[in-house]
Amino acid sequence: MKLIKAEVLGYCMGVRRAVTMAEEALKAAAGVHRVYTLGPLIHNPQVLEQFRSQGLEVLDEAKLPEDLRSAVVIIRAHGITPQLETALACKGARLVDATCPTVKKSQMKACSLTEVGYRIFLAGERCHGEVIGIQGYAPACLVVGDPGEAEERAQTLYRSAPAAKTALLGQTTIAPDEYLGIAQAIQAYFPNLEIIDTICKATRDRQHALSKLCPQVDALLVAGGKESANTRRLLAIAEAQGKQAWLVERVADIPPEIRAYPVVGLAAGASTPDELIGLIAKALNRALKRKA
Ligand code: SF4
Repeated sequence: MKLIKAEVLGYCMGVRRAVTMAEEALKAAAGVHRVYTLGPLIHNPQVLEQFRSQGLEVLDEAKLPEDLRSAVVIIRAHGITPQLETALACKGARLVDATCPTVKKSQMKACSLTEVGYRIFLAGERCHGEVIGIQGYAPACLVVGDPGEAEERAQTLYRSAPAAKTALLGQTTIAPDEYLGIAQAIQAYFPNLEIIDTICKATRDRQHALSKLCPQVDALLVAGGKESANTRRLLAIAEAQGKQAWLVERVADIPPEIRAYPVVGLAAGASTPDELIGLIAKALNRALKRKA
């Protein structure tokens, strides 16, 4: 068995930045303030467990404490709505804004387009934190998950406002061909749709590296959290290319049948720490030696 790693894999700039900011906030607040994140800081169980053991607590935005005057709240890379940011500030929380600069750009674009009268379509997963956060900057935007839904929503809007100025924004992790499909579905009703390129370069690079890797391997492991949208997307891309692929959160998840494949690929989502990638690669190499 031979192991080939994707050329680009693991932590992206936004996740690395959020992790560093959380580490620094914990250090600065040690013994003085409680430190929270709104929802999990990143979608990786090992990293979350490590932070939990250092005292980082997870806040549920539906049950915010009345008084946050002695607390530090870290806004994670996905960002939050401006309404929630105001609510936290009103409760006295000291905010550490770890919103990824790429996501921040989408939020600002949604805000400025709304201000000049655009009707916005937002392509992505309705329940994802990033999408919810962007929606806060464009409350009337239409969230669409696939071309079918986009067409339906565009048709409805066309009936009530055929001359509407429209724009399309997307979740940073959406696959380019999916984004294009959604854009085309809207353009059937609004040919002048303004398509904003919001796909993150880190996502694109990881997806591109995986597509390049697929033809060279017989099976593939994608290291990362099951809750991570970009990791799940990598798995879907590998499967769409006809590869047998598994998502592995930890070494114990490596399927024993992987040994049957002569060449195995290893990719990893943008929230997968280097340590985990290293451990999985080591375990695969051990399996390789045993087989030899
Ligand atoms: S995947 Fe892109 S948008 Fe998301 S946190 Fe990483 S750099 Fe930012």
